[in-house]
Formats: sequence, C-alpha cells, structure tokens
Amino acid sequence: MIVDYHLHTSRCGHATGEMAEYLATARKRGVEEVGFADHFPLELLGEARKKGISMAAEELEGYFAEIKELQQTVDIPVKIGAEVDYFPGREETAAQVLAGYDFDYLIGSVHYLDGWDFTHPGRRDLYAGKDIMELYRQYFAAICRLAESGLFDIVGHLDVIKKFGYFPPGDWTEIIDKTCRVLKETGICVEFNTSGWRAPVGEAYPGPAFLQKCRELGVPVTLGSDAHSVRDAGRDLDRAVRILRRLGFREIAVFSGRRRTMCPLPPV
Ligand code: ZN
Ligand code: FE
Ligand code: FE
Ligand code: ZN
Repeated sequence: MIVDYHLHTSRCGHATGEMAEYLATARKRGVEEVGFADHFPLELLGEARKKGISMAAEELEGYFAEIKELQQTVDIPVKIGAEVDYFPGREETAAQVLAGYDFDYLIGSVHYLDGWDFTHPGRRDLYAGKDIMELYRQYFAAICRLAESGLFDIVGHLDVIKKFGYFPPGDWTEIIDKTCRVLKETGICVEFNTSGWRAPVGEAYPGPAFLQKCRELGVPVTLGSDAHSVRDAGRDLDRAVRILRRLGFREIAVFSGRRRTMCPLPPV
C-alpha cells in the first residue's frame, strides 16, 4: 500500500490547485489511498486569524463536503485529515474544538517557537544568531509535548527544524533517542514526509538516524508528500518506500475515523 496523507490545497491560502487535481496526480504516481491535510484554522486554536497560513473556520464545512463528494466519485479511498499546529499550553482548547469534527486522522505539527515561524523562507535569517543545539532541544521538547498531548495521530515532518540546513555542531544522538522513546511511549505515528527532499536541506523528514531509531523501537510510520502544488502530489513516495524497506519496515499505518491499522508496504 502506498498512501499520501499530506496534501494541501488552495484553501490554506499558500498552496495552489484543487483536490481533484492533487488526487489525479497522486494516482498517476501509483498512490493507492490519499488523505487531505490542509492547515486547520488557527483562530480555532486560540491564535489570531492569519490570512494565507491556514484555512478559515468557515471553510471547514466546504472542506469536508468536497472530500465527501470525491469519496463518491473516485476509485481509491480518500481520507479526511488536517495538519494542526500544536501550541504548548493550549491543549484544552485544541481538544475541545477537534472533538467537534469527524476526521480520519490528525497530523500535529510544530511550526512556531516563541512565535517565530521557523519554517518560513522569509524568516530564515533568524537562524543565524542562534545556538543551534539549544534550538534543537527546544524544538524536540515541543515535539515530545505534542506527542504526549494525545491530540494527534501522526507527528508531521518530525525534524523540520533542519529545513534550511542548520544542524547542531556536536553529537545530538541523545535528542534523537529521547524523542523516539517518547514517540514510542505515546503510540503516535511518524510520517515519512518527502518534502524535505525539495527543501534547502535536501533530506526527507525525518532523516536516517530518526528512521533507524523508529524502526528499532517499533514506532509506526506513514507516508506524505506535503504537496503545496499539484505537481508534488505523490512525489518521491516510491523512493521513500525503498528506504523504509531497506531499513526493515514492512508495514505502514493507515487511518479511518482516527483508528490506525497497519498495511503491508509494497515490495520493491
Ligand atoms: Zn502549508
Ligand atoms: Fe507543516
Ligand atoms: Fe503540510
Ligand atoms: Zn506541512
């Protein structure tokens, strides 16, 4: 089974293309099940509403309706997901609002540290003066809290803090090990997100050391392209499957109604 669980659409305001187009391109690349994961409305998570960052609250109804319509007309399963920003300390707000919707899965992502959108190309100059080891500690502490919150099924782009190619100068195995242990304890799934290959870092999320550790501990994985344009739907998932197989993974996680089942990975 090859799935692409991380597709954005024009609804979030910074991606282009419509659902049917993403679906068609993913199918052409051999994807057998897709899931949309547009950015969940920030204003429902207790943040200020920001244009061009997430869907607006009033767009959620149309988002669900469009996916439900696609489910009737296409020949592969189409799942309803969302990529939800995790804000430490706002777990209650998130739990209450998320309980009001019938998602198949939720991807939890950290995109902000102290209000800094560290994945934004326009904000990358802020890495320059930072202690990168300290930054990694801070980021992965947030990831651990995200997992422990129990709010999400999948952790999004696990090591996206490396997006612009900044790595700690010294050994950071300890951070990797600790993070993976927490992931294992919480039962959350990790996505193999191929968008890192298209980012300055040129490495998928997560990197080899993380994948190896997930494999060792038995942390489940799923697949996503994080496409923000139609041409990236289903992109490089075949390459991802080969890497997972080489590391010893034999199954990937699929979700329905927020319940996980494991499916065999295709042979390579
Ligand atoms: Zn996005
Ligand atoms: Fe993201
Ligand atoms: Fe995304
Ligand atoms: Zn994303």
